[in-house]
Amino acid sequence: MTGQNKGQNGVKMRLRHIKGAEEEIANSPYVIQDPKAVKGKWRQLFGNPNPIRIEIGMGKGKFIMELAAQNPDVNYVGIERYSSVLLRGLQKREQLELSNIYFIRLDALELAEVFEAGEVERIYLNFSDPWPKDRHAKRRLTSDRFLAVYDQILDREGVIEFKTDNQELFRFSLESIPQAGWKVLEKTFDLHHSDMAQGNVMTEYEEKFSAEGKPICKLTARR
Ligand code: SAM
Repeated sequence: MTGQNKGQNGVKMRLRHIKGAEEEIANSPYVIQDPKAVKGKWRQLFGNPNPIRIEIGMGKGKFIMELAAQNPDVNYVGIERYSSVLLRGLQKREQLELSNIYFIRLDALELAEVFEAGEVERIYLNFSDPWPKDRHAKRRLTSDRFLAVYDQILDREGVIEFKTDNQELFRFSLESIPQAGWKVLEKTFDLHHSDMAQGNVMTEYEEKFSAEGKPICKLTARR
């Protein structure tokens, strides 16, 4: 299968099919093959009562694997909808000794079929596809359609953390999040030169864009 996706600038990119990706994912002990069967039982799967944090659209997974290494008392689930991208993360995962992270291949719209109400303590959205055309606004991971899904799985005190280089997507999110009844707790248009930079773990896209001199935006939000 060769899919089509919108890149950061909204340009159509071909998602290259990587031979054997599906098979490697299907045989990986690091990928939960039937995540819907684990709904409500994620802590049993991890074998501890620690909080569960997820990254939606983890790409090659640098960010979430670094967090997992830094925080052994937190459980992490990396979510990515494309096999060819997830495969890259798996190749890195195999070199690490970690017991607090799994991956799932899933579209974020299906998250409420995979996590029970309140089962997730934090959601990370990093450099989500901007979908610049108005008619595609519902596809943005900070649109009301996705916020309604996060509402179903996030703990009452749970927090969303969102980073992007895309100012339009950031401004859109600063409107869509309060409109959906959530509170923006903190925000910055220049993360790396702000108080919010403390403890920041960079993603692959963040490294690339900040090396080009682009400021990074970040917000956190809660209901
Ligand atoms: N988070 C990584 C980073 O910051 O380096 C990757 C960013 S990349 C631009 C966005 C990723 O989100 C892509 O790998 C894409 O396939 C994934 N993605 C987009 N929409 C998604 C959805 N609805 N469900 C799951 N993954 C999604």
